[in-house]
Amino acid sequence: MREIGHFIGGKHVKGASGRTGDVFQPMTGEVIARVALATAAEVRAAVENAKAAQPGWAATNPQRRARVMFKFLELIQKEYDQLAELLAREHGKTIGDARGDIQRGLEVVEFACGVPHLMKGEYTDGAGPGIDLYSMRQPLGVVAGITPFNFPAMIPLWKCAPAIACGNAFVLKPSERDPGVPMRIAELFLEAGLPAGIFNVVNGDKVAVDAILDDPDIRAVGFVGSTPIAEYVFTRGTAHGKRVQAFGGAKNHMIVMPDADMDQVVDALVGAGYGSAGERCMAISVAVPVGKKTADNLVDRLIPRVESLKIGPSTSTDADFGPLITKQHLEKVLGYVETGVKEGAKLRVDGRGFKMQGYENGFYMGGCLFDEVKPEMKIYKDEIFGPVLSVVRAADYQEALELPNKNEYGNGVAIFTRDGDAARDFASKVDVGMVGVNFAIPVPLAYYTFGGWKRSMFGDLNQHGPDSVRFYTKTKTITSRWPSGIKDGAEFVIPTMK
Ligand code: NAD
Repeated sequence: MREIGHFIGGKHVKGASGRTGDVFQPMTGEVIARVALATAAEVRAAVENAKAAQPGWAATNPQRRARVMFKFLELIQKEYDQLAELLAREHGKTIGDARGDIQRGLEVVEFACGVPHLMKGEYTDGAGPGIDLYSMRQPLGVVAGITPFNFPAMIPLWKCAPAIACGNAFVLKPSERDPGVPMRIAELFLEAGLPAGIFNVVNGDKVAVDAILDDPDIRAVGFVGSTPIAEYVFTRGTAHGKRVQAFGGAKNHMIVMPDADMDQVVDALVGAGYGSAGERCMAISVAVPVGKKTADNLVDRLIPRVESLKIGPSTSTDADFGPLITKQHLEKVLGYVETGVKEGAKLRVDGRGFKMQGYENGFYMGGCLFDEVKPEMKIYKDEIFGPVLSVVRAADYQEALELPNKNEYGNGVAIFTRDGDAARDFASKVDVGMVGVNFAIPVPLAYYTFGGWKRSMFGDLNQHGPDSVRFYTKTKTITSRWPSGIKDGAEFVIPTMK
């Protein structure tokens, strides 16, 4: 059995707590590794290593830091296939989707390669007599990332690449359910020339998370996961004076206007609703057709598409989606389907009985489609995080717009229409952080920022893009006067530029 410890100070370190977590291979249901669950002392050891290494790294000029990022990018690209396989094996998503997970992470590494430009300050020559004013960005010191199971490459890279490029040292606490890729990322960073101690991985659960949140030397925490934990991390981390950005769960709607191209809509919905078995924070989980005719047409077209979704093991090259992450999560999703039926929603496609031949112990289920879901139902309110799509019928555009606006989450949303006026009005009025127009999964590219609103995000600076540089640096502003001999005498009023 593969034992996964921690990566501290440039070395693999065995876990000392005696506590471990099972890492499953969801496609077969087998336990394929045991991951150490860290103690607070092990987190502290990682922080000490990071703290010792950080000043030297911060003093390394930004172009050289960027070169390490370029080299890291090259190393990951070289072993893309092996990494995608490892990721798919531990997570359950298909190989194609695992490649996308790595790719969207690498795009943020590419962004971080621009750090010499990104960290440039501002300069005003002659702001007053002999006075120049300038600003500089400096790293925070030791920062940490706590990440979820569903993107084991992308999200750790979104967190660590900008942080490290800016001159910080990083402690990552990845999901204990799929820690293999983050551990390999640590080895590749070292091989790329990153000094030991700048990127550390501490595996673990709540004990490790709490130790991170309480550690006086960790200046900032970037979290991604479910909303209750995001809120907890934000509250506890900020109470300790840390900068915290905590991204939570979602309930993403797709509004289907009567004039939408229905072929495009149905393709988009099956991909965004069922891809990665619905285990994406940007998955569409609610379709909102506007008007009865649109709704009847949409549901009639969706039923055969959902019934014919191809489910397969992660190694399959033609499956639409694979198994869920764990048996426990599968049971939770199946429980929601049961709840939906009891609540009176119409289950048009029931994927609960699906069995994967040859993989009977894997964590599979088929796609489920509910029609006539009402906003007061639990299956509408809660994030299910599985291959379950709910259709909530809206009488008109206003009623459709109110659904995402009244929802507690505000991560992603989409509208499909051929009416530019409706699209523009929607983009402006919807109370959600990331909006797609005829685009179902509007995950912004690396040079824009990613972040939801309402209970999908606690904090105020988004992930990647320019906000990531703001989050992982502090700004210093210098007012300097030369030549040194200028004398104004003692001034007792607030200095102004006369
Ligand atoms: P999770 O909240 O269970 O776990 C996230 C992290 O928190 C993990 O590292 C985990 O070890 C840790 N954790 C879990 N329970 C904890 C506790 N009680 N105390 C302290 N730490 C704890 O989330 P998950 O199941 O790994 O991931 C799925 C969730 O993440 C979904 O809700 C999904 O929407 C969300 N997500 C959000 C985004 C986003 O950007 N908004 C992106 C991806 C995933």
